[in-house]
Amino acid sequence: MTERVCGACGAEARNPFRAPQPEIAPDMDMRPGEPARSTLPDWVQVCPNCGAAAPDVSALPAASRAVAESDEYRMLSTSALEETLGFRRWALICERTGDRLLQAEALLQAAWAAEDAAAMTEASRLRVDVASLWDGTTDVELGLRRLDVLRRAGLFEAAEGWAVTMSERGQDELARSIIAFQRKKITSRDIGRHLISSALPPPSHSPHVSHGQRATTGFWSRLFRK
Ligand SMILES: [Zn+2]
Repeated sequence: MTERVCGACGAEARNPFRAPQPEIAPDMDMRPGEPARSTLPDWVQVCPNCGAAAPDVSALPAASRAVAESDEYRMLSTSALEETLGFRRWALICERTGDRLLQAEALLQAAWAAEDAAAMTEASRLRVDVASLWDGTTDVELGLRRLDVLRRAGLFEAAEGWAVTMSERGQDELARSIIAFQRKKITSRDIGRHLISSALPPPSHSPHVSHGQRATTGFWSRLFRK
């Protein structure tokens, strides 16, 4: 077996954390259900040598090193809420190395961490950043997650506008159910967390019972791969 090393500095790296498979449906922004949900603090590893942070530091591009050595990166440890620090560091590396999609995932995870620490204003601010990174996406799953992110940030007007934009594009039954659910919550000024299963049509009317798994693509499939 080849030795695993940090992509930023070349120091020896640990194996990345593998979250347990979720058994409960995810939230509408695709935060996975338990038992994966509460393992969030373990999702980002930090290289003990250079301080670079990512779910898998061995996958970081070499350009991450300069980011990890920058003043801005170091300042995060005094400016960011402690529970969000790993995610904020990872997000800054993604930003500086040009990966906007991963940057958004990192910031959304920071929002979840802030929420778990009952720092709701911070969580809200982070969601505003995520929504801005996902602005204009034509990917349906990201678009639906963005709708949830906007609502949960309390940006109800923007959320309603985005719901209309998504509806006008024409969506399948599943997406239409989710958009309708979100619009109801927007109307009642609800910024709470909801499970994706609560927005789905009754199983007798829908072949999409496995949506939780199907939607666990891309980033998530890497996190939960056995
Ligand atoms: Zn390193």
